[in-house]
Amino acid sequence: MQILQGIAVSPGLAIGEALVLDNEGFRIPRRFVNHDAADIELDRWAKSLKAVADQIAENRDQIASELGDEYGAIFAAHLQMLRDPKLNREIQALIKDHQHSAEYAVSKTLKDYAKVFQSLDNRFLAERANDLFDLEKRLLGDLLGQARQELANQKDPAIVLAHNLTPSETARLDPETILGFATEVGGQSDHTAIVAEALEIPAIVGIGGLLTSIVSGDRVIVDGDQGVLIHQPDEETYQRYQNRVRERAELAQELIPLVEQPSETEDGERVKLSANIEFPEEVKSCCDRGADGVGLYRTEFLFLGRDEDPSEEDHYRAYIAVAQALYPRPVVIRTLDLGADKLGREESQQSGERNPFLGVRSIRLSLRNLSLFRTQLRAVLRASALGNMRVMFPMITTLQELRQAKLVLHEVMEDLEEQGIPFDRDLQIGIMVEVPSAVMLLDRFLPEVSFVSIGTNDLTQYALAVDRGNKDVAELYRASDPAVLRLIKMTIDSALARDVPVNLCGQMCGNPLFSMLLIGLGLRSMSVRPSALLEIKQIVRHLNVTDCEEVAENVMAMEGPREIERYLSEELRRRVPEAIARRHHWVQD
Ligand code: PEP
Ligand code: MG
Repeated sequence: MQILQGIAVSPGLAIGEALVLDNEGFRIPRRFVNHDAADIELDRWAKSLKAVADQIAENRDQIASELGDEYGAIFAAHLQMLRDPKLNREIQALIKDHQHSAEYAVSKTLKDYAKVFQSLDNRFLAERANDLFDLEKRLLGDLLGQARQELANQKDPAIVLAHNLTPSETARLDPETILGFATEVGGQSDHTAIVAEALEIPAIVGIGGLLTSIVSGDRVIVDGDQGVLIHQPDEETYQRYQNRVRERAELAQELIPLVEQPSETEDGERVKLSANIEFPEEVKSCCDRGADGVGLYRTEFLFLGRDEDPSEEDHYRAYIAVAQALYPRPVVIRTLDLGADKLGREESQQSGERNPFLGVRSIRLSLRNLSLFRTQLRAVLRASALGNMRVMFPMITTLQELRQAKLVLHEVMEDLEEQGIPFDRDLQIGIMVEVPSAVMLLDRFLPEVSFVSIGTNDLTQYALAVDRGNKDVAELYRASDPAVLRLIKMTIDSALARDVPVNLCGQMCGNPLFSMLLIGLGLRSMSVRPSALLEIKQIVRHLNVTDCEEVAENVMAMEGPREIERYLSEELRRRVPEAIARRHHWVQD
């Protein structure tokens, strides 16, 4: 049994067989396949050989017809190398006799050949090494593509282990068959984590060295509560986890009656509980769990898996579906937060910004792509005629940005008016408070907005200078850091003083550890992933405001995040023992 610690990003437990994905551009694990799997690997190699040879032959013919035979000859040479029987024999031997994966066998053989060419004192032959690298890249691309495609067609339940999964790849995982996943890189609130939560797939990220020892077919356990991956569990551990899976299912059942209960503290203080969603399909889960509305709709996920930008109708259909299902409850549409690690348009992905989190992301991108922005705003406004919509601008840093965004919105309103298209003239406009500058200038922003929503995922990274997706600084990424807590407190105080509704939609809100603190700081509106709605409601119903205020006062006097989390954990245990008795992931040992 091997226990690997990572970062827990999506709660839940999964027990099953590993499905290991290799990684383009990173590292090809020297994966030993089981003896009976060698045939599968040989078959994969044969298929790749054929596919790549066909591809090169096609390139040769096309280039020859467009530019002439001498250019086509470049590809003819590649084809000749690829079809060299010696190369084939060596790769087959590595798979058959040494149980290597097809990827590893290809990579090793071609790299060895290239080394020989490079070592010869002949410039012409040294350059041939590049042809071999090119072949290697093509073959690996095909083999890795096969592995990813297999994932989409996966029929048997499995746990995916990969170096990395992008948010788009994660979104394509089918929760029916992919029981859980773990990756070598990633951080607590990057967007892969957010998609995993949306799909309710238990997940762990940031387990460096994960792929060195695990092969497809091994039994693994993903403990998304504690961030632990267990490889080849012993019988006792296996049984213990089977029991925990059962207990979890029972607990989920116990929470169901809370759907009908109001979200209010013991002393009758109402705490609005809305949901964060990425996909319109999640609205069902919001309704089933009695959400007070959608507090954050991450609309950039509409770009997922598309080659073209979504049309106005694509936007409209998604928004109207959510708004009508929840009506009259409000739906806060956050305008596109593309860029950085978010999915997105070719140009934002390929621009190669040095610091994309500090670059053309979010509202900055929308304001530079006005037709994209207007298309979205038209759809939101049209949907506002039928649903209770609100619009929220992300990553607002300066007053000028807010004013520009509002100006564009008003221009779109005028267009609609001219065209006689109905919309809600009193549409509420809000901003995310997720950049420290917005906190510092909040008194200037507040008169110009109807509501604010604190985005602690970004506020934490921008306040502490820690990339939210980087496992190497994950220890520093803590919403419980006193600096972040002061920013949250300043925002709440400022908004309350001016009677502007304030919500918090960062992931800390879905963690019961912080419920007491946030209520104690005066927060009365929270937005969490749908799967956390009932759990948080249960906690809220066990709290009273006076206790929470005392807890908040104590926390604000503390010095460091560890001390704060330990204290909050003890207080939760002490004040809500019924909920805690069941040991959740957020209880610290
Ligand atoms: C946040 O930053 O806290 C937030 C809710 O937005 P996102 O996670 O989509 O950046
Ligand atoms: Mg954000």
